[in-house]
Parts: sequence; structure tokens; C-alpha cells
Amino acid sequence: MVVGFEKAVSATKSVVTSAKKAPTTLSSDRVINFARGDPTMYESYWRQMGEKCTIVISGHNLMSYFSNAGHFCWFLMPELDRAIRRLHCVVGNAVVDDDRYIVVGNGSTQLFQAVLYALSSSYDPDTEPLSVVAAAPFYSSYPEETDFLRSGLYKWAGDAYSFDKDGAYIEVVTSPNNPDGAIREAVVNRDGGKLIHDLAYYWPQYTPITGKADNDIMLFTFSKATGHAGSRIGWAIVKDIEVATKMVKFMELSSIGVSKESQLRAAKILEVISDDCQNSAPDKEENFFEYGQRLMSDRWEKLREVVKRNGVFSLPKYPQDYCNFIGKYTDPSPAFAWLKSKDGLNCDNLLRELKIVTRGGTNFGVDSNYTRISMLSPDEDFNLLLEKLSAIKGTIINGNN
Ligand code: PMP
Repeated sequence: MVVGFEKAVSATKSVVTSAKKAPTTLSSDRVINFARGDPTMYESYWRQMGEKCTIVISGHNLMSYFSNAGHFCWFLMPELDRAIRRLHCVVGNAVVDDDRYIVVGNGSTQLFQAVLYALSSSYDPDTEPLSVVAAAPFYSSYPEETDFLRSGLYKWAGDAYSFDKDGAYIEVVTSPNNPDGAIREAVVNRDGGKLIHDLAYYWPQYTPITGKADNDIMLFTFSKATGHAGSRIGWAIVKDIEVATKMVKFMELSSIGVSKESQLRAAKILEVISDDCQNSAPDKEENFFEYGQRLMSDRWEKLREVVKRNGVFSLPKYPQDYCNFIGKYTDPSPAFAWLKSKDGLNCDNLLRELKIVTRGGTNFGVDSNYTRISMLSPDEDFNLLLEKLSAIKGTIINGNN
């Protein structure tokens, strides 16, 4: 089967790109989906952990709406509050002193909306909605989540690099960034700006931990920390009690809190990880983050090798840094590969011809010559991705190649 990329060739460029004759196995016909960042690759690790993370919940348990009546976040289970703070102390990736407030949410997706409400609700309702920006390429859900309900309080205003309106605004800083893995800081830096730091990927398997993050509002998620996306647990670490309290109000109105079953499960798993990280027995096996870091860097090495060989795409380069948690210099190994077509082709279309589904650059506020590939799929799919990418060979006729 010869796969042509004619559809992807731009009108102004004469580019012929072809795939080598792929083996006529069923694997080459299978459509593989790398568009979503579903962290199923961690399943094999948790399977190996056997019953260590099992919790038993009887019919009469956890029936009340309340987890901690009297606490500002009355639906947050104290067990989860403790487990979150402990894990951040063990990993050293965020400040969780007693004067930081933790708000639990149904994934960090719900918390993002709660923060938007909290930061914008005190503004005069007669003024324009507060602008929400993020530097492109930005996480593709931010624009949708911001504008879905057409709120009068806030409005998506696009790429932070080109934002030039005066007055108050909200900037989302995602670090490491989804989709391109870059370590980021705020770019607008003007008076009246409020920052949301989305630190979903600030864990040792994705990036060297260089210090404790200490931002005003930090979002983390169980999904990317441990791979348990289905439990829908996220948490915000907030400095200002007024902001935290407004977030709790949003949660109260949108879902009257967060499943206690999920919170208990998350607490158990986070404690198991912390216990394991603090176990210094000489013969102990690698902990979850060491395992994740090894697996991710192995995947990145293989992907870079294939991309280098086929010559059609390029990948970002990341500087090594000292990881305080792992105790040595490590290479960043982001959760997504941000692939660029060297010939300016529509990267997503090009890969669809090979039955590889990705999420194209325009979803992230940039050109279609970029696309995002999840690095978090199960081994079998990842190996198939490498196999399919190895089958591409590009020849630029009128270019310099
Ligand atoms: N922020 C970023 C940067 C993400 O990549 C994701 C998940 N793809 C989320 C937030 C949402 O995570 P959750 O599963 O906790 O809703």
C-alpha cells in the first residue's frame, strides 16, 4: 500500500511525500487515536501494585453531602487534603504550607471554571467581560471552556502574545505547557492581571522538578499525576482565602461538591505513592515517578530516532535540568509530542492518511503545520505509532531537504 499525501500538499509548493511500502499486516490498517491525552499507559504499573491501592466502601459509608462541615471547603475530605499536601512535600513541586487553601474539584477542568468565576465575579457587571488569555500554542480546551456558557463575566481573548487591551485580564500559564512541553512564565505582565497556573504536568515523569511552585492559584490533576483520569479529581492550591471561598461557591452550585468515593480512592493512591517514595530500603523497586520518568524518556528517545530517520517532521528540543526529586540531571519528557512538518504541510491531515489521528495546530491557536500527539497511550499503540511513522519517507523536490 502506498500512501500519498497529495491532499496535504499546499497549492504553492511542489512537494511529493510518500510512504514506503508498508507491510500488509492488519496493524497498518488500524486507526490509532493519539488526539486525546488519556493517560492509560500507567495502567500496567498500577496492575503490578495488586491490592495495595484497594479500598473497601460499604453500603452505609460516605452517605452525607458533607466531608468536613465548618471547613471553608466543606466537601473536601480531610484524608485527601492530607494526602495532597504530603505528596507535594515529598516531590517538592509546590508550596503547601498551612496558609495555602486546597479546593478539590471534579478534575481540574471544573476548577478552571471555578477560578474564572472567582476572579471575575467581583468586577462591575456593567463593564465588559474580563479577558482570558494564554500564550499560543495553548491547551485547546481553554477557549471552549471559557466561552461555552457565554458568560457575561469573562471571555476568551486569545493569544497572550498579541493581547494589547488595557485593564484587568486573566492569563493562564501552563507549565510544562500542553501541547509543546515548554516551561513557561506569564507573558502579558501588566497591571490588573490575574494569573492561573495550570501545573497539570509539573511532575517528575514529565519534567525535572527544579523548585517548589509558589503561585497565587495553582491547578493540579490526579489525571496526569498518577494516570487516574477516570476518578475526576483535581485540586487547586490557592493563596487568597476570598478566591478559594468563591471557588467553593462555584463548586457548590455546579455539583454540590465532589464524589467522596473518588476522593478516598485518590487519597489512598497518593498515600501509597508517598509511602513508596519515602521507603529507603536498599532492595526496593523504583517508585511511581521513577518508573514514569524512565518510561517516558524511553518513549521520547524512540520517537526522536524515528522522526530523525524519516526527515519529514521536527520535534522541539528541551534543555536538561537537575531534578531535585530524582536527584540527577534529567531530560524533559512531555506528555505530548509537538510535531512540526518541515515542509509546511498540514501535519494532522498528513498523519490521518497513515491512520494516525492527532490534534492539529489550529486547535491550539497556531498553524496547521503543527500537530499534537499524545505520549500517554498503552505500549501496543505507541509501538504501532512508531511503526507507522517509520514507514514515512519524504522527498522535497524543489526544496533543500
Ligand atoms: N489542564 C491541562 C493542561 C490538561 O492537559 C488537562 C487534561 N488534558 C486538564 C487541565 C484537565 O484535566 P482533568 O482531567 O483534571 O480535568
